[in-house]
Amino acid sequence: MKAELLRILRESESYVSGQQLCEHFGVSRTAVWKVIRQLKEEGYEIEAVKNKGYRICEIPDVMTAEEIRSRIHTRWMAQSCLYLESVDSTNSYAKRIAEEGAAEGTLVIADEQIGGRGRRGRGWETPKGTNIAMTLLLRPQIRPEHASRLTLLMAMAAAQGIRKVTGLDAGIKWPNDVVVCGKKVCGILTEMNAEIDYINYVVIGAGINVNQGSFPEEIRQTAGSLSVELGKKIPRAELAASIMEELERIYEIFLQTEDLSALYEEYNKICVNRGHQIRVLEPGNEYTGTTTGINKNGELVVRKENGETVNVYAGEVSVRGLYGYV
Ligand code: ATP
Repeated sequence: MKAELLRILRESESYVSGQQLCEHFGVSRTAVWKVIRQLKEEGYEIEAVKNKGYRICEIPDVMTAEEIRSRIHTRWMAQSCLYLESVDSTNSYAKRIAEEGAAEGTLVIADEQIGGRGRRGRGWETPKGTNIAMTLLLRPQIRPEHASRLTLLMAMAAAQGIRKVTGLDAGIKWPNDVVVCGKKVCGILTEMNAEIDYINYVVIGAGINVNQGSFPEEIRQTAGSLSVELGKKIPRAELAASIMEELERIYEIFLQTEDLSALYEEYNKICVNRGHQIRVLEPGNEYTGTTTGINKNGELVVRKENGETVNVYAGEVSVRGLYGYV
């Protein structure tokens, strides 16, 4: 009821009468008033005027399950949503609830992440109240060796969601980053629990720098945030919902073939590496070349300087621009 009430108030141009709300939910005026009081306690500014009803004046930048549910238009993805004020890592949390049987499509989202992780044991910063740390739990019936493709799908969804909500020219830096104006605004970490030929579950985590104003010295060169690039703050719940809507669309297309044959053109259009000279950093192997983007397997197609073409698998590889991060 809370999520639906929020949606009604937000989408209404004027006051919504208490009577209308009672009839809509089939509950008493007191029951409606109790939910309104809860929302006020959570930071929503709601005006109540006699003989007119309720009107929402200000929506705080929160990512509670109700706020997300009141905004999301998916059929199944993130319909179950768990909000945490603070967490070690949303990926670790999602893995724990996956072990306990949480449903496919559950979204774990946190306001603060104190032990966020990147690839190869590196850290990921999510300070309180500014960014999105979120992880989606999936139980895909695909071959375990194809799971790294899910990282590419999340990167695509994040870039498209950012474009829709902010209008910024977000691009994908293969395989697991989203960049705006050459700065990394989103990192993705996919982890899996699988048997040799069967996936138990996959968690796909995304850390998105939304409203962060400045960054620690160590990452200042490469990290950026959406609000800095846009020049104004962005409602985090709206962005998270939009990314989930994009991901549901993209994931369902992916499942039909288990590859990116129907998606790689859309991907390549917003892949910042495409057409650029890049340096490929594989463990123990470093080379430069030019890329035309990804193929249907999600591999980066790189033409080395000696003319040889290689398809680079997304596993442990990093890519850099020849003269900088992108
Ligand atoms: P590479 O760009 O080398 O491929 P990566 O994309 O795999 O690296 P991740 O593992 O996704 O890197 O992210 C971890 C790294 O990101 C950290 O080592 C740190 O330098 C940087 N980092 C940490 N927090 C943030 C943040 N909030 N925004 C941008 N970059 C961050």
